[in-house]
Amino acid sequence: MGTIKLRSDAHLQPWSISGESVLGITGNLKRLFGFGSKAETRQSAPKEEGGPTDSVTLATPEPKPAIIRRKATGIAAEYRDNFDFQDDMKALAQKHPEHVKLFELGKSVQGRVISGMSIGTGPIGLVVTGMMHGCEWTGGEAAFELGKKIAEQRPDLMDKVTLHVVPVSNPDAQEVSRGVLHGYRANVNGVDPNRNWPTNWGTNEITPQKFCHEIGGTGEAPLSEPETQAINKLTGEEYKTKGWLDLHSYGEFFVHPKSERPEKYEALIADMQKTTSKPYDSMKIQDHQDITGSLAEHCESLGIIAVGAELGTKHQPKGEEREATIQDGVNLGMAFVEHLAKS
Ligand SMILES: [Zn+2]
Repeated sequence: MGTIKLRSDAHLQPWSISGESVLGITGNLKRLFGFGSKAETRQSAPKEEGGPTDSVTLATPEPKPAIIRRKATGIAAEYRDNFDFQDDMKALAQKHPEHVKLFELGKSVQGRVISGMSIGTGPIGLVVTGMMHGCEWTGGEAAFELGKKIAEQRPDLMDKVTLHVVPVSNPDAQEVSRGVLHGYRANVNGVDPNRNWPTNWGTNEITPQKFCHEIGGTGEAPLSEPETQAINKLTGEEYKTKGWLDLHSYGEFFVHPKSERPEKYEALIADMQKTTSKPYDSMKIQDHQDITGSLAEHCESLGIIAVGAELGTKHQPKGEEREATIQDGVNLGMAFVEHLAKS
């Protein structure tokens, strides 16, 4: 397990991308994210008695940062932003109106839409989420491409499953990571959306704070964040969710929760392991540095089989490595869907 621990360490230290540490940049986060309380000073009317003029400080309402579409530069141009994914999902739904439907789950802290598409009409609901951590760009690409492949090439699955695809689960952090903080994973409140779930929620040595922009905290309470509240809707009855694949980066391994029926995970992950271009290890969440409040453990408590996949060896690979990493995500995702379609 020694090598696995090392690689999971790598996953939890996204702050040294390009060898550039951004620890200590928190002081700039308020400016970067456009939040922080603004106040202005106004002069009150002179008192009738002609006394001295009081200077009072009035808090003004927090302005919502404008949600603008920026032209991507550099490596970001190779990866879709939240608008691109919405456009591409819309185009797919228009092309295949009989079995691709769009849905909206909610909005992020800064008001970005968290949306997805449902593919197929079958009784087995399956979920694929990407970019719970904003900087993990390959997961969003793989989630969308998996949905597209099933919609266009697998009519045999259409009456067996309904696949709900959410490429961008944490769109504010995606936007931050497309700017200067390439390793940014938490939401803009400094909460890790994968530590904010009710099951086994709380701080510990690995996640010692409720709010932390560097590695992400637990949040003030379970499901305190708009992003997790939005994603949590996929556990609702109408989605009929039986399985959940959560795509992350990086490290080339699968994570699953401790279960009273471990054999169901072993069989599923064995099928997924056959599909990747390089060997992917498998580990339980309890082996993964004592993580608390994770989505997968919460799913397990609800009877939903949940697997996390840590794709590739970088958060934002380029060129051929980018293609191979995304293709691995699509292939292992297809194995996930095929395995559970038989259940
Ligand atoms: Zn992640």
